[in-house]
Amino acid sequence: MHRLYENEDISVFWDSEKCRHEKKCVTGCPEAFDITRRPWININDAPTDKVWQAVSKCPSGALSCVYNHFIRIMFEADAHRSAAYSGEILIGECDYEESEEGWVIYHTEVDPAFSGKGIAKRLVYTVVQEAERNKNRIIPSCSYAAKVLG
Ligand code: SF4
Repeated sequence: MHRLYENEDISVFWDSEKCRHEKKCVTGCPEAFDITRRPWININDAPTDKVWQAVSKCPSGALSCVYNHFIRIMFEADAHRSAAYSGEILIGECDYEESEEGWVIYHTEVDPAFSGKGIAKRLVYTVVQEAERNKNRIIPSCSYAAKVLG
């Protein structure tokens, strides 16, 4: 399972398959990480710097985070994509098509002027999260998505 949690400042990624349940996140920031709650992560319940510190101590790589840099990510079902916006300007997208086997991610691209900010990963996670919530399998034919999900 892949999940993306966002507040105004940061985006937190969680990959359940990598989680070793060592609970360093829970002890580091119990306000945001509470395994008795659903969803168990709520990054709006704690200061951003405390969430960031707890994420950085995750030993397995199941948790990771990036700053948002004022870039908004939207899931646009009609266009079969997630899209990144700086203000009203489209600066990146992750495209998929529906097949009998699942959702095929075939293209992920971010304007090079915005590279190095984790935007492509946010785009891929947004599509994957939506697919998983709708019980669809993800098939990453785009090399970047395959790397993120590998
Ligand atoms: S610190 Fe990382 S490995 Fe440990 S429970 Fe939290 S997410 Fe899982």
